[in-house]
Amino acid sequence: MSLKYEKKDIYSNFDEANVENAMSYAKSYMNFLDKARTERLAVEEAVNILENNGFISLQEKDNLEVGDRVYFINKEKSLYIAVIGSEELVKGVNIVGAHIDSPRLDLKPMPLIEKSGAALFKTQFYGGIKKYQWMSIPLAMYGVIYNKEGEKIKIAIGENEDDPVFTIADLLPHLAKDQMKLNANDFIDPEKMSVLVGSLKDKEAEEKEKETVKSNILKILNQKYGIEEIDFARSELSLVPAFKTKFVGLDKGLIGGYGQDDRVCAYATIRAIIDAADEKQIDKTMIAMIVDKEEIGSIGTTSMSSRAFDMFVNKLIEKTNSMGVDKLEVYYNSRVLSADVTAGISPEYEEVSDIQNGSEIGCGISIEKYTGSGGKYDASDANASYMSDIMGVFDRGNVAYQVGTLGKIGKGGGGTIAYILANKGCEVVDCGTPILAMHSPFEVSSTFDVYMTYLAYKTFYKD
Ligand code: MN
Ligand code: MN
Repeated sequence: MSLKYEKKDIYSNFDEANVENAMSYAKSYMNFLDKARTERLAVEEAVNILENNGFISLQEKDNLEVGDRVYFINKEKSLYIAVIGSEELVKGVNIVGAHIDSPRLDLKPMPLIEKSGAALFKTQFYGGIKKYQWMSIPLAMYGVIYNKEGEKIKIAIGENEDDPVFTIADLLPHLAKDQMKLNANDFIDPEKMSVLVGSLKDKEAEEKEKETVKSNILKILNQKYGIEEIDFARSELSLVPAFKTKFVGLDKGLIGGYGQDDRVCAYATIRAIIDAADEKQIDKTMIAMIVDKEEIGSIGTTSMSSRAFDMFVNKLIEKTNSMGVDKLEVYYNSRVLSADVTAGISPEYEEVSDIQNGSEIGCGISIEKYTGSGGKYDASDANASYMSDIMGVFDRGNVAYQVGTLGKIGKGGGGTIAYILANKGCEVVDCGTPILAMHSPFEVSSTFDVYMTYLAYKTFYKD
């Protein structure tokens, strides 16, 4: 037996039945990804799945018994889930947490303008993107807008075959001589990332009226949704890639799609807590959460930093008749998997990865002891004892895992929600799917890593 650490691909070690399970899991994941285009839609879809599996709203329960399955929706954009175990909460709970917001383009508060015969929506990008990747691709629009009466109107344009889409018309190469001299940070001015929304003038407009393409778009919006221009100020509308999730490559070993960071781990988290509850009477209470705003620093009411999570834990304490239990002690004794994707080693950019400490696609879920950048700044660094604990769990459960860091020191860095739970006193480590082209409109994962991510979280809950 070799004493060396080696990355091993999952596929070679899978028998036919396992391959079939992985492919069928992949298909249900791809279906989820196509529906969960925004954090709101991810919450909606997750709640559908949970309700179909016996979960009910925490508000409907005064007392929680062993085996009870509950969820709490935080302001439509994040979700906390629990299955009550037989052990006291104060001995700690098992938590898996993922995020469901992904990089995208948001509409500005007053977005509609007209220029050179076109009506456009002005946008502001959300999260860390390479701006050029978002030019000249089809975009769909999702979100909510409130009218004067305070009624919420849901918007989804671009998901059906015959729906129109939106796009940012990039500059043609013929006239891009000056633009092409600029560096990649500067050559797309974010103020120019406006999407086309129309080009037809309002025929009924009076002769001296200006911006009649804009007027025409406002008419269409008013007919369809009953809204006026000012209502954009009370909206949250986002543009996301309009193309569907697909297998990539002739062997179907890869999955391409928008929003895999971090909906791949979010879906695995949801499925893992359901299946763990189905398969075993568990001792430790299980908590799953899918949260918002990770991509912009985990700030705000629906982010991991929100005290809404503490409120949820308070409710669990109260409703399991554990009054008097110190929430901080619950945290102190709890174990967390911070379920977030990491960078897969990019075949054509190997030079930014430390290969020995990198994650290769197809070689399993990646455990990342620490994140951050440079001299471990802003790192959430897992304790060695906890690494030992989790590696033991995965070894016992035959989970294929690899040990990774994001990339070479000095090439960049990143963080997750891990530090927020670490600061509460929980044991926590980052653990998720390696991704290629992360934060692009079409991120790529391995079909087998995707399945292994789910198995890993389920194994953690069941251990
Ligand atoms: Mn992420
Ligand atoms: Mn991210």
